[in-house]
Amino acid sequence: MQVLVYGAGQLAQMMYLDGAALGIDVRAVDVNSNTVVHPVSKARLDGTIAQAIDWADALTVEFEHVPEDLLEQAEASGKLLPGMASVLIGADRVREKQLLSRLDIPNCPYQIVTNVDQLPDCVQQLGERLIIKASRDGYDGYGQWRLNKAEELPQLQQQLAGLDLEKVPLVVEKMLNFDRELSLIGARSRNGEVMVYPLAENLHHQGQLHVSVAPATASNEALTARAQEIFTRLVEGMDYVGVLAVELFQCGETLLVNELAPRVHNSGHWTQAGAHTSQFENHLRAVLGLSLGATGNIGGDAAVSAMVNIIGCDDHQLALLSIPGVHLNWYGKSVRHKRKMGHINVTAESYQALGNKLQRLSGYLSTTHFPCLPDESQRLANIR
Ligand code: ATP
Ligand code: MG
Ligand code: MG
Repeated sequence: MQVLVYGAGQLAQMMYLDGAALGIDVRAVDVNSNTVVHPVSKARLDGTIAQAIDWADALTVEFEHVPEDLLEQAEASGKLLPGMASVLIGADRVREKQLLSRLDIPNCPYQIVTNVDQLPDCVQQLGERLIIKASRDGYDGYGQWRLNKAEELPQLQQQLAGLDLEKVPLVVEKMLNFDRELSLIGARSRNGEVMVYPLAENLHHQGQLHVSVAPATASNEALTARAQEIFTRLVEGMDYVGVLAVELFQCGETLLVNELAPRVHNSGHWTQAGAHTSQFENHLRAVLGLSLGATGNIGGDAAVSAMVNIIGCDDHQLALLSIPGVHLNWYGKSVRHKRKMGHINVTAESYQALGNKLQRLSGYLSTTHFPCLPDESQRLANIR
């Protein structure tokens, strides 16, 4: 079977690698050059996008910001999964908020802003600590601004004055003091079967994911059930097919949806080493109409995993592979500031053992590029 992925980054690459084991061929569309490429070597392949669409049994996306003309061409084939409407929800925070309201799913208090003169009213309604998000094209914290106190408002208005807010409105959110960030990754098959992975607990630094731990520490049945209920309502509400990632803020017992990613997600990379079926394989299975694979932990209920992003550097030492249960995934990209270069998956039989392995791992990594690792490994090592 054959799948065409829009986007030719590491997510398409990892779908290719898992597909290969099943005899599923994956090709990628480089949306910058409008060419079809090999997902690993990025070498250009013969033929047009239209020919690749004919070649494929299913079309899918590895990121939500695919140009709309390409999405329309894909949708017209009848083979795009998830469908265009779901991809656009993930690409546009205004549509996303509309969906959350329609499905009555708790999320962060917000206002939509189409003119900087509306910002003082946001402060009135939401308070002076705000996070301001461009409704389109943001990721890894790009396309975001923060207001910490009302006095900074004129400066912020000046900064935003150049933007065409009629065309791309802002979603202005109250800055929340959440307890922690979680994500739920799951899949819905073509015949409506839904399977979710254990909740992941995510550590961000400067708006970017650095470490995920799954299952999330101190997660109980009630919390898991609440997240699953949100997930099911979302996928059924969108008639969604494929892997979906739901980013959540936990405030006490309450879960608020931060955003959706209509695709495989960085906080699900741990599934490559820690789950019976990776998110990449399950996404391919879903869009191809195959049955989904088991989403539980390898090693049983007590087993735990972590994923550590390698960001903006390539100075890790391969000797880190000497730690048992440590796996490296390298994307083969040139180094750039804040660029995701690869990730490390670590599996262990307990949080304590996981913390100890992460501490050993820190010894092979520079402290500047892995700011969350020392504290996080310590925290996990102390869990009894
Ligand atoms: P991603 O790479 O996950 O797509 P993004 O650029 O789309 O990121 P968000 O996920 O909306 O942006 O925000 C990035 C991070 O900023 C969040 O993971 C969280 O740490 C913080 N953040 C976002 N919204 C809020 C909020 N309302 N209150 C407090 N922190 C927030
Ligand atoms: Mg996002
Ligand atoms: Mg996010």
